[in-house]
Amino acid sequence: MSCCDRGQLRSVDAMLDELLNKTTPIKETINVDITKALGKILAADVVSNIDVPPHDNSAVDGYAINLSDYRIDQEITLPISQRIPAGSIPERLQPGTAARIFTGATVPADATAVVMQEDCSEQDNQVTLPSDITLSQNIRPQGQDIKTDQVILKQGHRIRAQDMGLMASIGIADVTIYRPLKVAILSTGDELIEPGKIATEGQIFNSNRYTLIGLLKGFGFDIVDLGIIKDTLHETLAALTEAANSADVIITSGGVSVGEEDHVKAAIKQLGELDLWKLAIKPGKPFAYGRIADTPILGLPGNPGAVFVTFCILARPFLLKSQGAARIEAHSFKLPLGFNLSKPGKRREYLRTRINYVNGEAFIENHSNQSSGVLSSASWADGFAIIPEHTAPQKGELVEFSPFSELFGNG
Ligand code: AMP
Ligand code: MG
Repeated sequence: MSCCDRGQLRSVDAMLDELLNKTTPIKETINVDITKALGKILAADVVSNIDVPPHDNSAVDGYAINLSDYRIDQEITLPISQRIPAGSIPERLQPGTAARIFTGATVPADATAVVMQEDCSEQDNQVTLPSDITLSQNIRPQGQDIKTDQVILKQGHRIRAQDMGLMASIGIADVTIYRPLKVAILSTGDELIEPGKIATEGQIFNSNRYTLIGLLKGFGFDIVDLGIIKDTLHETLAALTEAANSADVIITSGGVSVGEEDHVKAAIKQLGELDLWKLAIKPGKPFAYGRIADTPILGLPGNPGAVFVTFCILARPFLLKSQGAARIEAHSFKLPLGFNLSKPGKRREYLRTRINYVNGEAFIENHSNQSSGVLSSASWADGFAIIPEHTAPQKGELVEFSPFSELFGNG
């Protein structure tokens, strides 16, 4: 058992490194229909055993010819010897003839170009061709998309819509993925009541549970929802024990501050190991990392704005790596600030911001309320502006912008 109430602030980068080092990526795999694979992580390379397309095929509706029947800069007229709709098996092109062909149809052997019908005229089963035909024009070559034995998607890849289509294009109907992580969530606090009920004086609606459900669902994790846990050591112990027995990872919100009503730390200490950190992150200073037997616990702060930020910055990479994802990093890019920061802070700040435009030029617009207890700024925002510790960038300076579409999306 270990615990450390570190007085000093710990950097986000150091915390993230340590968290990522502590992950044990899941090994169990399952087979799912590709229609159920969106957002899931591939447990093995996907290799094609066919060429896509399987044959040279026509990119247009038109006429297939052999270029030896064509004289440069001369219009020629050829008899039409066969008709090839998509899905049919063509015969070899007879010398001195053209084949009527349709988009996607297999190009007949000996045809070396397809001329689009808009450039031709057909009469009495003969076609007159234009004078500017080039070798292989309008022919999509066999294997131009995928070659036999090619790895089309790698283990660890997070499956997106286009990947589902790509797998379908090589004829596979199901795929091996890592079993979705089971993530237990607990909302601690005597003041909490579920939405849909009537709040009496002193009560507030539980919002963290819903933010977390949405975030976790977006990644395709299975949720073990333990609801609201009262601020007693007894109830916290029982809930954490149940969570550790039923989930791969536990995420708690609230109860990790220094007050005597905060029982999460004590309960983790009693059941397993706990590291408590004061993180150099704003919002979200208190952050607990612990373990009960083999089940890791991320103890997020209680404030709703801080839950959102600490999930995105710390829990998201931890969970993705535990799920076996190869790419953890979310792309971000620099944009000019549209406002001034008043003074440097000791903590790295994740401002809830938006991209806006003046004369077509993008800039970062701030939300006026960045309090850790405020969720409406997160709802208004479309990304974080990341303000490094000990800096106070001014209007026009370039600052890292981390879009939510990257953090949550499966692009
Ligand atoms: P705590 O860390 O438990 O002291 O909580 C910090 C602040 O977050 C308090 O104002 C709590 O009322 C609030 N809070 C904690 N959990 C939730 C929750 N699930 N939904 C909304 N607010 C919460
Ligand atoms: Mg509390």
